Amino acid sequence: MKLLTYLDKSGLPRVGQLSGEDTVIPLSYPDNRKVSDLVELIASEVPLATLKTSAPALNLASVRLLAPIPRPARNIFCVGKNYTDHAREFTHSGFDAGQTDLNAVPASPIVFSKTPETVIAHGDAIWNASGVSEALDYEAELAVIIGKGGRGITQSAAMSHIWGYTIINDVTARDWQKRHQQWHLGKSFDTFGPMGPVAVTADEIEGNNLDLKCWVNGELRQSSNTRHLIFDLPTLIETISAGITLHPGDIIATGTPEGVGIGFTPPRFLKPGDLVTIEITGIGRLENRISDLLAG
Ligand code: MG
Repeated sequence: MKLLTYLDKSGLPRVGQLSGEDTVIPLSYPDNRKVSDLVELIASEVPLATLKTSAPALNLASVRLLAPIPRPARNIFCVGKNYTDHAREFTHSGFDAGQTDLNAVPASPIVFSKTPETVIAHGDAIWNASGVSEALDYEAELAVIIGKGGRGITQSAAMSHIWGYTIINDVTARDWQKRHQQWHLGKSFDTFGPMGPVAVTADEIEGNNLDLKCWVNGELRQSSNTRHLIFDLPTLIETISAGITLHPGDIIATGTPEGVGIGFTPPRFLKPGDLVTIEITGIGRLENRISDLLAG
């Protein structure tokens, strides 16, 4: 099932099912309460098959789309350098502070985070950070949405803790990422977390084997498959949950493949007007334009 979050006629968030390409079916709980929060739905463990779909359907083009999880309860877990080809392009770019072995790939997952306030929807503008950063870059990523939480989740159990998947653009200010060494600041500027357009339940797609592609202004920049992840989804969940209890609705952005702007010589940074499109098999297309005006 593909689920999305949108604003209803009253301007309140509502969760609906995407049927076909462009039909939104508003969802209600079996007790007729409207489903307004995807994380609340996930945490409730109410079977999706029992949700009511009797409200009038809407056309996708007629609704104001939000990110599937518009404001995560806490930071988004992100994984750095998790594709071999990207790890190499990053270290060779000179933007990987302190890295001297140019062919190094991580021996263990590199995990950092983005703040919840970075999240924006499909179609929203990404701020070009005018006057703050001169090195805006894109990163197409598969994001995992946790269903059943837990600590000490083993690799063998990990896939059963995945509720579903979405797309994240891990937008990055490369100059800040390099200068401050820790990546948090350069990854967490306002609007640097485009997410969506939908969340897809785990039963519909195989998260460890999904094609992902990214275009800038229609030019293909990234093309890979999640089977090339250095640390696969079970490894990431086992690693992150070893000491941190995961909760329903937690999000893990799993890393980006080769082809980001700093992989080019000279680097090809994003500028106002650029359109970034990310597509992942079975999820959809996430599109956002760079703007010199701060969204929102
Ligand atoms: Mg990333």
